[in-house]
Amino acid sequence: MSNSNLVTRWWPANLTNYTKGREGNKIQGIVVHHAASTSLDSIGAAFARAGRNGSAHYGVGGNQIHQYVDEADTTWHCSNWWGNVRTVGIETINSTGAPNWEIALNTFETLVKLVADIAKRNNLGRLWINPKADMPTLSGHKDWYGASTVCPGPSLYPRLQEIADRANAINFPPVVEVKPVVAWVDISPLELKAKEKIDILDLDTGADKGDIQAGMIISNLVQETTVNGKKYYRTLYSKTKGFNNGILAEALEPTDTVISPESIINGEVRETDVEIKVPNEDEKRPITEKEVKEEAKKDDGFGDDIAPAPGVKPGMKPEEVQKLIEEHKKNMEKAEEIIGEVNKDMEFSPKTKMIVYLLGDLLIIAGTQAPLVVALINTTDAVTFGQLLGQLLLSTGTMLLFTFKLLKKKDK
Ligand SMILES: [Zn+2]
Repeated sequence: MSNSNLVTRWWPANLTNYTKGREGNKIQGIVVHHAASTSLDSIGAAFARAGRNGSAHYGVGGNQIHQYVDEADTTWHCSNWWGNVRTVGIETINSTGAPNWEIALNTFETLVKLVADIAKRNNLGRLWINPKADMPTLSGHKDWYGASTVCPGPSLYPRLQEIADRANAINFPPVVEVKPVVAWVDISPLELKAKEKIDILDLDTGADKGDIQAGMIISNLVQETTVNGKKYYRTLYSKTKGFNNGILAEALEPTDTVISPESIINGEVRETDVEIKVPNEDEKRPITEKEVKEEAKKDDGFGDDIAPAPGVKPGMKPEEVQKLIEEHKKNMEKAEEIIGEVNKDMEFSPKTKMIVYLLGDLLIIAGTQAPLVVALINTTDAVTFGQLLGQLLLSTGTMLLFTFKLLKKKDK
C-alpha cells in the first residue's frame, strides 16, 4: 500500500473520523462519492474537525486532488464496515447542487486519473462494476448494503462504467502493432511501360497484389521508395488509398511510341484490374463520311447516287467531283460545329446526327440556304418543319432525293 503522487494537498483528517490500519485486509476496490458540495476545501475542513464520524481518503475538485487519510488506514465512507476496510474512498466535488449534482468536466478527468493510479498501485487489474457483486473493483457509495443515499448522485453514478473504461485504457493501453515503415518520396508523375510481366507487391507483406502485363503503360506513378536495395514506384491510386503497393522500377522503361489512351493503366483510377475500354455506339465521336454513305445505301431509291459526295453525277469531270468532295468535307465540319453548339444543351443520337449531316449536304445543293437549314434543324414543330421544307423544295430538283431521305429519317 502506498499513496497517490498525484495529490496536490495533504490535509489530514482528525483521528476521531477514521481507523488506523485495515484489520489485515488488502485494498480490493475503489468507491466513488460525490461531495454534495461545490467547495473542495469544505471537505478537508469537515474531515479535520473532531466528531465528524465520517471520512474519505481523497477529494477531487477541478485539477486538484486532496488527501485526508493514508490508503493504509480505514476511512468511514461506504456505510458498510466490510467495505470500508477493503476499499479506498474518493469524494468528488459537484459543480451544481440538488437535484442534479453535476460534475465539472475537468473534475471528472482528474477523477479518472486518480482512479487509474489507485487501481494500478494496488494491483486491482482491469476495473469492473457490478452493484450486486460483493466486491466490485469500482463501485458507487449507494451500491453498498446499508447505504441509504443517492451518493454519488444522478450525474456521476451512471458514469461508473465510463470511469472504469477510461482508467483501464490508461493502465492497459491497447497494443499497437508496429508495421515496417515504407518511406515513399514524391516524384514528378511518370508514365512508364512494363518491359515484362510485373507483380504489384505489397511492400509490407510481400503479397502479390496483381499483375501488369508486358507492354502495358502505367501512368500516374507519383512516388518512389527503396526496399532491400530495389527501387519501387507507387501510383497515385495507391498513395491516395494508403496502399504500400510497389511496382519494381527496373522492370519499367520509358514509353517511346504514342499509345492510345485505352491501353494505359491509369494509376489514378485503378491499377490491378485493367479495363480495356470498348467504344460503344453512343461514344462521342463524329460519324464518318463512310458511315453516312453506308447508312444511305440502306435506303431504297438512293443507291450509290451520293458517292463519293452529294451532287456527283456519272460522267462528271474529275475536277468537278473533287470540288464537290471538298465542299462536302467543309459541310461536314460545319455540321459538326452545329452539333457541338446544340450538344451543349442536349444529347443527339447517332440517327439525329445523321440527319444533320444530310441537311449539311442539302446545303450544298440549295446553295445559300444555310439560315433555312439551321432553322429546319432547330424546329420541333411539325407544321413549321413542313413549311421550311417547302421553301427548300423550291430549290433544285436534286434536292428532292435528299428531302425524301430526310423525311424518312425524321419519321424514325
Ligand atoms: Zn458517499
